[in-house]
Amino acid sequence: MINESAELVYDLSAGEPGFVAEIKAMGGEALLDCIQCGKCAAVCPMALAGFPIFNKKLIQAIFLGAREILLEDSSIWACQSCNRCTEICPRDVRPFEIILAMRRVAVREFAVPALSIEGLKSLYDVGHAVYLKDSGQTRQKVGLPEKPPTVLASPEALKEIKAILHQTDLWEIGLIPMDGNEMADASEV
Ligand code: SF4
Ligand code: SF4
Repeated sequence: MINESAELVYDLSAGEPGFVAEIKAMGGEALLDCIQCGKCAAVCPMALAGFPIFNKKLIQAIFLGAREILLEDSSIWACQSCNRCTEICPRDVRPFEIILAMRRVAVREFAVPALSIEGLKSLYDVGHAVYLKDSGQTRQKVGLPEKPPTVLASPEALKEIKAILHQTDLWEIGLIPMDGNEMADASEV
């Protein structure tokens, strides 16, 4: 359904007719209000960084039923959650919510890039989406406490994060490791 060149080429005969409804059900309720004006793309860091399927193009691909292409492309995982697109959209489409809806579809299909799985594991283990290896020493060198005043310094907050993750589909499909004791801890929160 996609060629190897820089340009995306859609085969409309291979489009999935129920895809728009699926995205709307996953949280992209305002999808059909998009008029493809491109304002969201003009402010998007993903587009600036060269990812092929940024907000506007994602919505266009959903309109075309290009579910397979979107599941094979990792652009949605590069979204910075900056919400610039939400602020500038003249139709209140909330493109960031469309990104999140597509991520939910991808998670259900196990179409999650390895880098994102690492981020989820890190979020589960330490409460941040990236491991902060050796950051304590660096902080101490500049006179800061070894741990920042975030979840890293709060075992209770980490328990809450684990409890939240336990309620997600990620936990149910086994993407987040959790043994029996940790599960019991999380359920106490
Ligand atoms: S989501 Fe909003 S800003 Fe982006 S193309 Fe559609 S109408 Fe324009
Ligand atoms: S929230 Fe994501 S899609 Fe929207 S402008 Fe920021 S990076 Fe782009």
